Amino acid sequence: MKRKPMIAANWKMHKVTSEAKDFMAELLPMIAGLNDVDVLICPPFPLIATVDKGREDSNVLLGAQNMYFEEKGAFTGEVAPAMLKDLNCEFVILGHSERRWIFGETDELINKKVLSAFEHDLIPVLCVGEKLEDREQGKTDQVILSQMENGLKDVPEKMIANIVIAYEPVWAIGTGKNATAEDAKNAIALIREFIHSRFGNETAEKVRILYGGSVKPENIKTYMAQDGIDGALVGGASLKADSFAALTKF
Ligand code: PEP
Repeated sequence: MKRKPMIAANWKMHKVTSEAKDFMAELLPMIAGLNDVDVLICPPFPLIATVDKGREDSNVLLGAQNMYFEEKGAFTGEVAPAMLKDLNCEFVILGHSERRWIFGETDELINKKVLSAFEHDLIPVLCVGEKLEDREQGKTDQVILSQMENGLKDVPEKMIANIVIAYEPVWAIGTGKNATAEDAKNAIALIREFIHSRFGNETAEKVRILYGGSVKPENIKTYMAQDGIDGALVGGASLKADSFAALTKF
C-alpha cells in the first residue's frame, strides 16, 4: 500500500510570534503545489494560533507538542485536548523523549494521552525510541516493543490505522548523531511488525511510521529511500523555513 509521506516540524521551545509569522510567510511560497507530501508543523502552544493564521489557504497541517488527558479542571499549566481542537490542531505529538526523560512522563500517562487524543478527534504522533544505554545493552527492540505495547493499550482497533508513529532513538535527537538508515529501517520494520501482529496486515500497511533524530536536508534522502520509512519528525532543521522546505522535497 502507498502511504502518503509526512514531514513534521517539532519546533520545541523555540520562536516568538513575529518569528512564527515570518517563518510561515517564507515557507508557503517554497512549498506551493506540494500535494504528495503531508507537511505538519507543531509549534509551542502560544504560537499555534499564529501558525494557523499563517497557513491559510495551504495544505499545511497543524499539531501541538503535548497535551494533558483530562477534559478540564485544576491542572495548572496543562492544556486540554478541546483547547487544541479549538485552535484547529489536527495532530498532537505524544511521548516525545524530552517529555519522557526530562519531565518524567511514563508509558501509563502517555497511554492516557493517546486515548484522550483519539476521543477528541486529534491524531497522535506517538514517539518511541531507545536510550543509548538500552542500545549498548542490546535492549533496543525490547524497549521499542514495550513502549508500543503500553502506549497503545486499549486503543480501539479502528483508530490505529490513523496514528502516526515516530521512531526516535533518544541518543540521536538534537545530538547531530543520526541512526544509520539501516538501523532506522530495522526499527521501523519491527514497529510495523508489532502493529501487524496486534491489529492485522491492513492496519499495519496504513500506519505511517516516521524516523526522527538529527534529520537534515543533507541526509533525508537516505532515510526516505528505505522501505517502510514514511517520513521524518524534525527538530533543529525545521526551525528555518528554507531548511524545512528542503526537507519536504526529499
Ligand atoms: C525531535 O525533536 O523530535 C528531533 C528529532 O529533533 P532533531 O531533529 O533536532 O534531532
